[in-house]
Amino acid sequence: MYDGIVQDLIDEFGRLPGIGPKSAQRIAFHILQTPNFDVSHLSQLLGEVREKVRFCEVCGNVTEQDRCSICRDTRRHATLICVVEDAKDVAAIERTREFKGLYHVLGGAISPIAGVGPDDLRIAQLMQRLADGTVQEVILATNPNLEGEATATYLSRLLTTLEIRVTRLASGLPVGGDLEYADEVTLGRAFEGRRIV
Ligand SMILES: [Zn+2]
Repeated sequence: MYDGIVQDLIDEFGRLPGIGPKSAQRIAFHILQTPNFDVSHLSQLLGEVREKVRFCEVCGNVTEQDRCSICRDTRRHATLICVVEDAKDVAAIERTREFKGLYHVLGGAISPIAGVGPDDLRIAQLMQRLADGTVQEVILATNPNLEGEATATYLSRLLTTLEIRVTRLASGLPVGGDLEYADEVTLGRAFEGRRIV
């Protein structure tokens, strides 16, 4: 435990996801002990991110404009939509360079325990995107855990009413884990080996 604002800083870092007390302390002391650490740049960035970054009106990915760079890219295949839970998953899949279609970010997964139902996710927006018949395949790339599977099952049932190929990423992804932590090769293979559901 430290005095005053040093402890406040450590506590604040400790509130961030994935940062335990030791890491929080390490970051705080890095800032304190590095004379040329650009504090004003960091605080400016934090402010700008909060101010400028929003969610793409089409797919829900993070962007600084109305539409994200992927939705604006005319070279992407508009016939293919990959459904993910989170904008972090878009980044993970983009790193594989395996996928050339568009995305749809749900904003979470169905979880009765956490009180998240289908209406809390961007499912209505997905159905809207599919309505004009452009999309021929929907890839369900929700996380390979309980909530992700429940969400994929829900969506695959919902999508049977449409004449669209619905696929799920191949197994081989670490079960119970998050897509964002899968390595690029594994994730790339899961795309190649996706199966119809
Ligand atoms: Zn977008």
